[in-house]
Amino acid sequence: MRIPIIAANWKMHKTVPEARAYLERLVKLAGRDPGVEVAVFPSFTALPAAAEILRGTSIALGAQDAHPEPAGAYTGAVSVAQVADLSVRYVLCGHSERRKLFGEDDLLVGRKVRAALDHGLAPILCVGETLDERRAGRAWEVVERQLDRGLSSVGDDPDGLVIAYEPVWAIGTGVAAQPADAQEMANRIRSWLRDRFGASGGEVRIQYGGSVNPNNARAFLSLPDVAGALVGGASLDPDAFWAIVHAVRT
Ligand code: PEP
Repeated sequence: MRIPIIAANWKMHKTVPEARAYLERLVKLAGRDPGVEVAVFPSFTALPAAAEILRGTSIALGAQDAHPEPAGAYTGAVSVAQVADLSVRYVLCGHSERRKLFGEDDLLVGRKVRAALDHGLAPILCVGETLDERRAGRAWEVVERQLDRGLSSVGDDPDGLVIAYEPVWAIGTGVAAQPADAQEMANRIRSWLRDRFGASGGEVRIQYGGSVNPNNARAFLSLPDVAGALVGGASLDPDAFWAIVHAVRT
């Protein structure tokens, strides 16, 4: 049984007071909600306040990124070890914006995945093709490479790992993938995970991400190989985000 994970990626949005107001509202909406896991990924600056507000609730905290080295001369970076200190459970690894805007390659992403596991955190490895790659019929080739390299230093046990399939062309564009295409890719990822990890590969949760909103969430969350969503724009309002969480249960 894969418990769906619905994650709110705030990207570079919200000051600390705005983050507090959002989370106080979300905690009210959430109450006790077994059967669905909800995780929020604020900016680093809001993590301490978020940890304080979410303590004792069922809502998990995640970091949008983290550097694999534990400490050192990496001006501006925040390490996995540092976020692990803040009650963070998840770390996004290789979000397409990190890959494209900050030049992260698969090898660095793989190091982040390894560092997260080493610190007892659950990596969410983001994979997905660009529009040109899809049009050229190379979508699976790209996703397979990202899986292969991103997970190259994970042993035989994928415990805690989450994969987010996010076609780059669907992120922040308002144009979501067709649910059938998302299912086809999730199914290929599932087969790959089974080949790589055996039966436990069947337990790894695969999220869909890319312009998920309260109106289309149900179509993705009911797909057989999809167990959750990674949500950007539509997660910035707590009520809209909660409507997406609610779609899992209806
Ligand atoms: C994301 O940031 O991972 C994302 C999927 O964004 P959006 O929902 O805005 O497309």
